[in-house]
Amino acid sequence: MTKHSIYGLTFDQLAEWLLERGHKKFRASQVWEWLYRKRVRSFADMEDVNKECVALLSEHFAIETMEVHTRQESSDGTNKFLFRLQDGNLIETVLMRHKYGLSVCVTTQVGCNIGCSFCASGLLAKSRDLTSGEIVEQVMKVQHFLDGRGNEEKVSHIVVMGIGEPFDNFVHLTNFLRIVIDHKGLAIGSRRITVSTSGLAKKIVEFADTDLQVNLAISLHAPNNDLRTQIMKINKAIPIEKLMEAVDYYLEKTRRRITLEYILLRGVNDRPEHALELAELIGDRRPLVNVNLIPYNPVDEHSQYQRSTQEAITGFYDTLKKQNVSVSVRLEHGADIDAACGQLRSKQMKRSGEAGSAAV
Ligand code: SF4
Repeated sequence: MTKHSIYGLTFDQLAEWLLERGHKKFRASQVWEWLYRKRVRSFADMEDVNKECVALLSEHFAIETMEVHTRQESSDGTNKFLFRLQDGNLIETVLMRHKYGLSVCVTTQVGCNIGCSFCASGLLAKSRDLTSGEIVEQVMKVQHFLDGRGNEEKVSHIVVMGIGEPFDNFVHLTNFLRIVIDHKGLAIGSRRITVSTSGLAKKIVEFADTDLQVNLAISLHAPNNDLRTQIMKINKAIPIEKLMEAVDYYLEKTRRRITLEYILLRGVNDRPEHALELAELIGDRRPLVNVNLIPYNPVDEHSQYQRSTQEAITGFYDTLKKQNVSVSVRLEHGADIDAACGQLRSKQMKRSGEAGSAAV
């Protein structure tokens, strides 16, 4: 029988589960401490938890449900992990080093159905959603890797920008967020977590209505519908007007800044007139919007797209600045490894002839 990951339970869910089976609430605190603070990898190592409780947990749950299939380390300290899940599927997780800390980019689905035309991840259709346990475990696996190096380093930030559309896996996503934020566990501050969506408008509204205080990024990539539909087919179903309605609801409700992600594709969406159009689209939302420009990482499968020239990147940036739009350019990580999201996984799957299905 496949066991569920213990990491998929929030503290309250664990406490309730134990209570229903005759164990006191403090057992949940002990187990939580062993999982997230002392970070043991076996129930048997939870020394002050009584034998009956350890046996019960071992019978129903696993601490480790995935294994490292491949790890690539870049000269800038970026580590890209390819994990093999219990059902054989492969997923990617990335550890990045920044001046401000260590961030982990997690995956939320096996494959993706959004089909952005530039994306290596979206080449393989979604075969399933990840459970909250599998999303938390990615962070824990990276933390265990850091623990093993003995430098007392801790994951400080999380970006939900790996393979998949997080809002298409909403329940597991929000459960995951509650688990990693919990101050009794990993205690990653809400403001240190960013969720990125391709723009599922209804879910943006639903997200605004939760009590979660995490940052939101939206993949815009184009300032008008014609161009956006060409780059992201989701725009046909959810055009920019609908998306911006949801953005307005979110801004009004939360008063938190959002990031608009904009991938720069040479000669496609990187001209000064596109920057001007983008500034106009942002309009009076300026105080609550930051544009993050992402120089494109070419992938073999999408040879129609090239990276913008440095001149075009600077020109786009300057045009937005002149229009009083807050703008940044994303720094590259792991340029000497399979840096583009999904690249490592799609390469591995091609190598083993597993395109589109579980990599058993
Ligand atoms: S960019 Fe994100 S949403 Fe778009 S296809 Fe790739 S994984 Fe899916």
